[in-house]
Amino acid sequence: MAIQQQINKVIHGIGASSGIITGRAYLVERFKVRLPQKRIHPSHVDGEVERFYKAIEEAREQLQEVKEKILDPMVRQHAFILDVHMMILDDEMLIQNTVENIRKRKINSEWALDLTLGKLDAVFNAIEDEYLRERRSDLHHVAARIFRNLMGRKHDDITKIKGKVIVVAHDLSPADTLQMRLNHVAGFVTDIGGRVSHTAILARSLGIPAVVGLEAATSLINGGDLLIIDGEAGKVVINPTEEISESFLERRKRVKLLEREVLKYASLPAETRDGVRIHLQANIEMVEEIPSAKSHGAEGIGLYRTEVLYLNRKDLPTEDEHYQTYRKIVENISPGVATIRTLDIGGDKFLDGYSKNNEMNPAMGLRAIRFSFKETDIFKAQLNGILRASAHGKLRILFPMISGIEEIRRAKAILEEVRKGLIRAKVPFDRGIKVGAMIEIPSASVTADILAREVDFFSIGTNDLIQYALAVDRINEHVSYLFEPLHPAILRIVRSVVLSARRVGIPVAICGEMAAEPAYVLVLLGLGLEEFSMNPVAIPKVKKVLRMVEAEETRSLAERLFQCATATEIKRHVRRWMAERFSEDFGRSIAEELKT
Ligand code: PEP
Ligand code: MG
Repeated sequence: MAIQQQINKVIHGIGASSGIITGRAYLVERFKVRLPQKRIHPSHVDGEVERFYKAIEEAREQLQEVKEKILDPMVRQHAFILDVHMMILDDEMLIQNTVENIRKRKINSEWALDLTLGKLDAVFNAIEDEYLRERRSDLHHVAARIFRNLMGRKHDDITKIKGKVIVVAHDLSPADTLQMRLNHVAGFVTDIGGRVSHTAILARSLGIPAVVGLEAATSLINGGDLLIIDGEAGKVVINPTEEISESFLERRKRVKLLEREVLKYASLPAETRDGVRIHLQANIEMVEEIPSAKSHGAEGIGLYRTEVLYLNRKDLPTEDEHYQTYRKIVENISPGVATIRTLDIGGDKFLDGYSKNNEMNPAMGLRAIRFSFKETDIFKAQLNGILRASAHGKLRILFPMISGIEEIRRAKAILEEVRKGLIRAKVPFDRGIKVGAMIEIPSASVTADILAREVDFFSIGTNDLIQYALAVDRINEHVSYLFEPLHPAILRIVRSVVLSARRVGIPVAICGEMAAEPAYVLVLLGLGLEEFSMNPVAIPKVKKVLRMVEAEETRSLAERLFQCATATEIKRHVRRWMAERFSEDFGRSIAEELKT
């Protein structure tokens, strides 16, 4: 029972990574599928029970086939898990309870099985033994297989994807997204997620067009459907007619032309018309992005998110691996500076065997510096690598998710231990290496005056700052309309952090996604920021807009914004301000974010 095929259906989500592409859908149901819940006519009950048994039989055959295909003896050792799954398929409670639900409640198999699962979950929850409790996940894997069979969906393994397809999933983790690079995925769409989720940020780094937060993509799209995805506008068209396809191709041509035009600015200095020199740097997730950072005009690396080093592997990076990676970065970006952010795992990125994605509230849980304090060996290995690499160029260390002065002191104390070890071992490193704090938690921004005395620089991470200050989960599509960078609260916070840094005389940069949007950059410039770090591709257009304005006039603009009571008023005002200065075309091309 495949879902009904859609023709020319446009669905709207959140543009996560730009690019317009067309391709066939490849359904990866990670992790949740919307289950159809239907009441059935009494005369259809027997047929429904039969459908359920058929799905079970198919599952058994599929598992048997998977088992037979395993040739690698190392993998074979783990094949027992397939036997466990086959045993679950025979489980009386699972089968009888579901059949009973179909018969008594007159409901479809999916609904009936879902009810059984709920009941079995409750049984598992009551089990004291942790090992047995863990078997619940096996039950869910098996159930997912049965659901897929019932719904006529293909089974898939993301690591096996080959060729140019558009991956359609309920959710993709940053680790899943990374694997796509290896498999030439043309683009992806997901039901959940927001523009500043790490999955979206990674997609931009990898240059994979993506639309997230579509809510019902996995319910509406069938494997094999032809899709057009517009990663800029956040649109997906399912099985487009030829006419629609052509109009998208036209738009693609126009977008490409604009991109080419703006590239001219990559090599020009980022200087305002009244001579204020601005520093533009790149955010990167992988060493491979350095050539792109340079060709787009980055002066340095303002944020290297080191998590990718740890993802998709069972072991941990060694000290030497850290050293070699950071050395490569600093040597390649020289004479520019490279800012290495220590591990920011947790939240929406998880490390095999360590951080668990079962926290009730992972964004506020064991994330970033908190994880590093718990796993000090992992932290020290990284610090060791950073310090050693600092002998080869200008490196800076950046600590993520600092909430107050004690954490900075603690991080610096651990760094000091590592430094002493290297001194004892006579290993060279930069003794004057600069240490900075991310300002991304409201408590850090409020106490920035105190923090500024402990560090050499600040980097404002607006992705998290907005998330925590406005209480808006950055990966939740249902509240993404509340994720408002120009909220009066955010402007006030940024202004006060800039003033605190200025009073003590330390530099302050901004490295959240806000820095990649020209319209926001104008406001940030007006608030006194002169250092911006962003995804490399955004640098030329930010340069272009900076070269068109005077810093002085953006200061008056920012001042005026403090009289506005709402983000809507602020955006309206910025839009009007831009309309007075820029041509209609250019104004429109950078005002996308200011739509209310
Ligand atoms: C931020 O929070 O703004 C930031 C730059 O870091 P990340 O997006 O990796 O959390
Ligand atoms: Mg952050």
